[in-house]
Order: sequence, then structure tokens, then C-alpha cells
Amino acid sequence: MLVTLDTLRADHVGAYGGDVATPHLDRLAREGALAEQVCAHVPLTRPSHVSLMSGRLPTETGVRDNVSPAAIPDLPLLAEVLRDAGFSTAAFVSSVVVSAASGLDRGFGVYSDDFETSADDPSFLNTAQKRGDATLAEALTWIESQRDGSRLFLWLHLFDPHDPYEPPEPYASRYPGRPYAGEVAWTDELVGRLDAALHRPPGGIEGGDLQTGLAGDTLLVVTSDHGEGLGEHDEPLHGFFVYESTLRVPLIVRGPGVVPGTRLAGAAGLVDLYPTILELAGVAPPAGAELSGRSLAGALRGGAEPEPAPVYAESLVARLRFGWSDLRVVRDGRWKYVRAPRPELYDLADDPGETRNVADEHRPRVRALDDALGGFLARERPPDTGAQSLPPELLERLHALGYVGGASPAATATPGADPKDKIGEFRVANDLMRQGLVALHAEDFRASAARFEDLLGRGVDNAEVHLYLGRALRGLGRAGDAARHFQVTTERTPAYPEGWLGLAEARLRLGDADAALAALAAGQLVLPSHAGLKKEEGRLLGRLGKLAEARRALEAARALAPRDANLRAMLSEVLTHLGDAGAAVAELREAVAIEPATATYWNALGMALGGAGELGEAERAFREAWRLDASDPRYAYNLGLVLVRQGRAGEARPFFESVLALDPGFEPARERLAELGRNPP
Ligand SMILES: [Zn+2]
Repeated sequence: MLVTLDTLRADHVGAYGGDVATPHLDRLAREGALAEQVCAHVPLTRPSHVSLMSGRLPTETGVRDNVSPAAIPDLPLLAEVLRDAGFSTAAFVSSVVVSAASGLDRGFGVYSDDFETSADDPSFLNTAQKRGDATLAEALTWIESQRDGSRLFLWLHLFDPHDPYEPPEPYASRYPGRPYAGEVAWTDELVGRLDAALHRPPGGIEGGDLQTGLAGDTLLVVTSDHGEGLGEHDEPLHGFFVYESTLRVPLIVRGPGVVPGTRLAGAAGLVDLYPTILELAGVAPPAGAELSGRSLAGALRGGAEPEPAPVYAESLVARLRFGWSDLRVVRDGRWKYVRAPRPELYDLADDPGETRNVADEHRPRVRALDDALGGFLARERPPDTGAQSLPPELLERLHALGYVGGASPAATATPGADPKDKIGEFRVANDLMRQGLVALHAEDFRASAARFEDLLGRGVDNAEVHLYLGRALRGLGRAGDAARHFQVTTERTPAYPEGWLGLAEARLRLGDADAALAALAAGQLVLPSHAGLKKEEGRLLGRLGKLAEARRALEAARALAPRDANLRAMLSEVLTHLGDAGAAVAELREAVAIEPATATYWNALGMALGGAGELGEAERAFREAWRLDASDPRYAYNLGLVLVRQGRAGEARPFFESVLALDPGFEPARERLAELGRNPP
């Protein structure tokens, strides 16, 4: 069982000397082993998890940040190796950053990444994350369902310590003014709940010991993907700098063979977990696999620690998103070197807070560490900044979490600048991006547009900022200005369908349907198999009354997206207008087969069937619509009408009455009832 507690600083855990009460993590460390100096290789959620799961450094995976394309190269991920060794695999994650679209789902039989369920808090940010107790409950349900004796690999990802910090009670009150500490304490409680469940014997009685439940047989690995700045070095969150505040993470391992009370003192990295977990699970690494880390299994079993070796880390955010300099790290024993325009050297044994840069006093050491860094960089894959992009909805949620950036880097007036000189600008940009998106989703278009215009003025000038600004301006009714920014989006990132769709819609609002169609056609030159562009073309042609062309476009879209029920319904309308009732009915039958719980499709099917004279089937369709949604008077009216047409006026009466009960102003129902009164059945 691998548990990643997102954004957990090692020095906030009690067992690491922190002052937050973490009794459950502390107990695990006593019952198992603790590694004191574990380094994340990149202080960002997705690339850090990718390195953990692939056993390869970010230089080798090519995944450098949260917003670059999703492709993880064809390296065997931990879950794939364990699945192939016969394990049942499942992952329960709490942030959109590691949703299946991140590529981390490979090898997992179950990958739970639904974040739309937080009905108690419909704010936009909370469609991107899930509270840890909900994720944990799902994971425990899965474990309970796996009692057939097969070995299990479960990855549980809890996101609570990530900002925004909103610890539940009693932790909010227990840590006044320190909400991050409150989240850490709350997360520790979740770890305790997990461990209690593992101790529970089958049948669910509380209070078992290590031998009764699953706990005695479970290798439990608890770590984090990165820490949190908390204002140190002027960095509130994580991702931009490479200091220990965001790179040093806890690692606690308990389970069969692990000697209780073991403490590993040597520098290790998250890439070491891949070979360590496989060795402790008795699974051979894939044949021929090159791994960047070294197994710690021998040391965890009470043997010697591996020989000291340099550990690599990086952040490319400043370079990839702003054109400033990247930051590269080599940690060797007590020394930590940061390659930057102004290089940094810290003696972590003397100065764990990295407050005194001693690079000028240790030039030979700096040169030696820079050479060691060159060894890591010799194997570097170039960052993938190609035309591929994350799905726009995902990218948008990442931006709302404060990860500025997108498919194209921002222009900047100071290329190659030292990130140390740019943290202020970076913070402002992240705040503006988040505020702009939150305002956009709250439909405060004026505030939203102001934020994105501010970003452009500050040189954060990428496709996504233009896209969001275009949407805000559209909301303000400024279609001409919106079209201009959508146009820039399509020029910067032609492979981004949202830009073409926005441009077409804005041009249509300006009354230029031909130009709107031209935008959709241009988009399809870049994205020939994008169903959404084809569908929009069909919808627009239908509105223009060009029915034969609309039919062709929608049928082409249908070939690209055969499971789109809404597209089927749209096509059926065009077919009805073309007089092809049979084909219209066929499309709607598909629509209700794809989405049987959507009342409008049943109602449309009933109308198409009624138009084709198939009254009995139409009645069944209207009954289904009315059963699914008894709040829409049209369904009851249509049902009443089709009963009258079948000569069953007596049965129709209560439905017309239901219509009027829902909507007393629904005159046609009143007229039908009056007719029934004049001509009693
Ligand atoms: Zn993270």
C-alpha cells in the first residue's frame, strides 16, 4: 500500500521533529522505519508522482511540470509491473493533477478520480479535488471487496495539505493562524483511520492487533510528492524554487521484514521507492529495465545503507512558463548545490534552512558538484512542449490551482533571469490566474477580464490567458474583443479546439455566420478528427437552414463520437426537418440507449415516433420521460395527447391535470381538458 500525502513537509511530522501532533505517523515510524533525508526530484505533484511511479528522474521521463502534455514515455510503471506479477491494482486519488488524464492510471485496474461529487461545496476549485476522508472511504470499500486472497497493490493519494488550507474541526481551532499545520494534523488522523481499518479482522470488529487484520501482511509506504514553502525564501506554495522546504519529504515504511525503529540517515530520493517496493514485495524488476534509484530494502531490513550517492532535483517552471532560468540541484551528503545564474551552495548539516549561500567560499566544491550535475543532464530528454496539450478542462482546473502556464511559454522581458529575482512576479501571476478563473466561473466577468488583462500587461502572454480573457469578454457582451483574443489563442496554439470554438461563436454573435463557419473549417484543418468542431459546424449549418450540409457535418461528427447522445438528438432534428422520420427515430433510439436516464431524449423520441404514426411506442417513450422527470409539464402533456390520439381520452385526463398542477398557465392542457369535457369518452 503506497500512500502519498500531497504537499507534506517532512519537518512538520512529529517523528521528524515537527511541532504538529501526528501521533499516527509517529507510531508507524516506531513500528517500522523512517528515512530522514528523502528528496523529491521536482516540487510539483504530477512530475514527482511520475518519477515515483516510474523509478526515473524527471530528466528521463520528460514530465517536468503539471501543465505540460500528458504523455509518459513507455517506461513500465510500478502498477504495471505489480499487475503483471498478479496483483490486483487500484488507485484512489484526490486531485485532478493526478487524474487519469495525467497518464498515471497505467497499470491500475481501478482508478478512482471523480471530483464532481463534492455537492456540499459547488465552488469551481472543489471540482478539482476531493477531501481525504471521501477518498479514504472509497479505498477502504475496495479493500473490503478484495477478500479472494490475491495480492493487492493500492495507491492512496490524499491532497488535503495542498492549498487552499481548510482543515476541518477540531484541527482548525487547534492550530489557529496555522491552517497548513491543521491540514497536516487532519491528514494524520486519516492515516490513523487507514491503519485502524488494516488492523480490523475480517468481519469488522474494532481493535485488532497487527496479526488479526491485513496490517501484519501489508507493506505500508507513506511519503509525499513535495513539501510547501510556507513563506520561506519568499515562496508561499511550491514548484518555483528548489529549497528543502519544498523538496524534503517524509518516508515511513512498515511491514513484513522491516525492522522496527530503523532510521536511515543517508540522502535518498523518491526514485528509490520503485526498486525498494518491488524488492520488499518479492517482485523482480522488469527485465532490462533501467532504473535511476537504488533499493533501500536491505537497509530497511536492518542491513547497511547504500553507499552515499548524489541525488538530483530540478524545477523548470521559471524557464518553461516565463523564459527565465531553470534551477538544477545536486545533493551530495551534507552539501547541496543549485545551478542558477547566481549559483548557490548550502551546508545542510550546519544550515538546514538554506539561509547562507556559501558558493563563493567553496569554489572547487561548486565545480565538482556542477560536474556531477552534468552527469545527470547527459541523459536528459528535452521537455515536451509540442503541439499536444492536456484536455482544456483539466488545464483550466490546474490554472485555478495556481499553476500558471499552458501549451506555450509566456513572453518575458528578461530571458534567462535568475528565479531568485522573479519570485514576486511569479506570485502575482499565479494569484491573478487563480482569481481570474474563479471570477470567470462565478460569472463576475468584469473582475475576471481585469485579472487577465493585468496578466497580459505583465508579459504572461500565452494562449490560455487569451482564451480565458476571450470568455470573460464574451460574458460582458463584447463579442468583437472576445473574437480578437480567441483569434490569438488559435494562432498561439492551433491544436487547442476551445480557441476555434470560441472564435466561431464570437463571430456568429457579430452576425457573421460565414466567418464563424470559416473558423470551424480552419480548426478542422489542424484537428481533422475533433468531433466537437464538426458538431458545432453541423449545429450552425442547421441554424442557417442549410439542412443537407448540416446532416453531412453531423453524420461526420457521429462517426468521430458515436457515443455522444446530444449529437444524435441534434442530428434527429435535422433529419426531421428533412422529412426523414425513420432516420430521426433511429438516431433518438441510439440517444436513449446511450443515455437512458435523460428525459429529454425520451421525449424527443416520443415526438418523432408520434410524427411517424407509431403511437403505442410513442406512448412508452413519453411515459419513460415523465417517469424520469415529473417536474416537466411538457412530458405529461405529450403523454396525454398521444393517449387521446389512441382513443383513450379517459386515461389522458389525469395527465392534463398534472400539467396544470405544475403550470396553471399551460393553456393547451386547459383546452384539451375542456374538449374532453365537451366530448366525454
Ligand atoms: Zn503535490
